[in-house]
Amino acid sequence: MKFVKLIQTALLFMCLSNILMAQFPNGYPKNYFMFPINPGQRNYLAANMGELRPNHFHGGMDIKTGGQIGLPVHACADGYVSRLRVSTNGYGNTLYITHPNGLVTVYAHLDRFNASITAYSLEQLYALEQTDIDILIPENTLPIKKGEIIAKSGNTGGSSGPHLHFEIRDKKENVLNPALFGFTEIEDNIKPTFDKIAIRTMDIDSRVNETFGREEFSVTYLSPGKFSIPQTITAKGLLGLEIRVHDKMNETHNVYGVNCIELKVDGKEVFYHNLETYAFDENRYINVHIDYETYILKRQYFQKCYVADGNNLNFYLMNALNGKISITDSSTHIVDVRIYDSNGNASSLTFKLKGKQDQNPKLTKIYTPKPDFDIYENTLKINGSLGYTENATLFLQQKKVSIPMAYSINNIPTYLYDLRKGLPDSSSAGTFKSVYDFVDMVVPGKRRIPLGNLTLLFTDTTLFDTLYLRVKKNIVLNGEETFEINNPTVPIYGPIGVTFCPQNYVNKNERCYLYSINNSLSKKYAGGNWTQDSLIHNLSYLGKYIVSKDSTPPVITYKSNTTKRINFTIFDKESGIDTIRATLNGDWVMMYYEHKSRLIWSAFKDSTQVLKGDFVLEVTDNSGNKSVYKKTL
Ligand SMILES: [Zn+2]
Repeated sequence: MKFVKLIQTALLFMCLSNILMAQFPNGYPKNYFMFPINPGQRNYLAANMGELRPNHFHGGMDIKTGGQIGLPVHACADGYVSRLRVSTNGYGNTLYITHPNGLVTVYAHLDRFNASITAYSLEQLYALEQTDIDILIPENTLPIKKGEIIAKSGNTGGSSGPHLHFEIRDKKENVLNPALFGFTEIEDNIKPTFDKIAIRTMDIDSRVNETFGREEFSVTYLSPGKFSIPQTITAKGLLGLEIRVHDKMNETHNVYGVNCIELKVDGKEVFYHNLETYAFDENRYINVHIDYETYILKRQYFQKCYVADGNNLNFYLMNALNGKISITDSSTHIVDVRIYDSNGNASSLTFKLKGKQDQNPKLTKIYTPKPDFDIYENTLKINGSLGYTENATLFLQQKKVSIPMAYSINNIPTYLYDLRKGLPDSSSAGTFKSVYDFVDMVVPGKRRIPLGNLTLLFTDTTLFDTLYLRVKKNIVLNGEETFEINNPTVPIYGPIGVTFCPQNYVNKNERCYLYSINNSLSKKYAGGNWTQDSLIHNLSYLGKYIVSKDSTPPVITYKSNTTKRINFTIFDKESGIDTIRATLNGDWVMMYYEHKSRLIWSAFKDSTQVLKGDFVLEVTDNSGNKSVYKKTL
């Protein structure tokens, strides 16, 4: 097994979580599953398990289907269909097969199921009168033989091109890495690549290259599997390393994720991460596994080589400092980072950190002074104006606090303040002035914060870490009211409850709901429920929201029909499609929906039935606007 050596190294200083060991005492079963697409032939992946995605790790392998829809999808082993989903969102049309060894294989973005599974799914859709279903199916209902064609591959749900999304899970919904099950259909002997690193100061006294904050460094390629950073980086105190990496496989242009990272400083293991498995409901921890701010601002994934506060994923091993690097002397330290793909190809990056404990930065940097501020953990960082050498002043309600300069670069002073000492209203440093909208320091846990016409509700699972809550509200944009909670670069784990009473009273009948809004003023429907004069909603993201009116109903366009099937396109400009309901002579009719092509089409469960009589289609958007199409067929 490729990881054995590595795991043994890791075991020297801590014990690996035993989930996998207990499940597969003899290693992963290697010949149990057959490959679901073109078994026995060379196959290619569009994505691998563990790739970093918005709000989740990619749970399986995306198997290429040559840009085609309709390739036969084979059951990997004997078993039964234990769960079935018909949906235009997420995984799209999906089958889950439970096998006698307790593992579950998942086949997603399917175009259609085979005849018997389709018949079963239509029975259920008609019984529930729902166009979207996600149902559990008892054993013995849909038994499956190894190799049986269960479906045709497709591009349904949130897929951006035809492929099969394939997963292997255990009974407890832990996702396992399919690459470790010995599929010979995939070839990969290409070593992964380091793209960039970043080093971040982890407390108020830490410095990287004599400054406080986060600094990125370019990586130099030396030879296959060997990378370095030629410059020596100076370091002081507690630091966090972040790496940006990617992998390739033979004969494809696709870019993949790297599953395993090992960090050593002066030969001593500091941090180790091996993404062989995780629980499906732990996905959102990815937002503290990565540097979330960089992801939001640049769409680049930097993975932390330390475990941030609030990160409950358990696929890490780390030193007593949670993987952080501590530099307390003036010697030179060798940092060695190794990355491994699931096929055992490895690369290493080596660089030097030179301890520098004195506080006299002589660096000249390309650096633009800006009057705004940054918050790193508990530290507020502000700049003073060019040439200013005095202390900065913080104003805290009745109090004035004088802050000495932490350092100066190119004549631009930087000041650091520990926010745990009290939240400032504003600050000044030379001609630079900042106004903060701090409300409170909110620690993870239940908390209700009333702020006039806006009330915030934090639950036990809202926050990863302490939030220095900042709120702006009652700003009117094009006649519509907004509120802003911190900004979208701060991740939250669970939703934050809001109750907002717009001051320019709008009511339910005006179809006003919450939309998130970005700096370019593009709106995205969020939702909300009206109670009397307030909108209540659970927000999944921090940032700016607007109460916006949608009075435009969906557009229904008739396309064609036969005696068996009628086709339309549907579209809604503002809040999006919520429900689709069709009837023939008053009886409910299933309409499949593919949101990317905007197509909807009918399907009967009884193959002898024909489209004859009064057909009515109602499409409703999320704001309750409804369009109705009627035709006598
Ligand atoms: Zn996928």
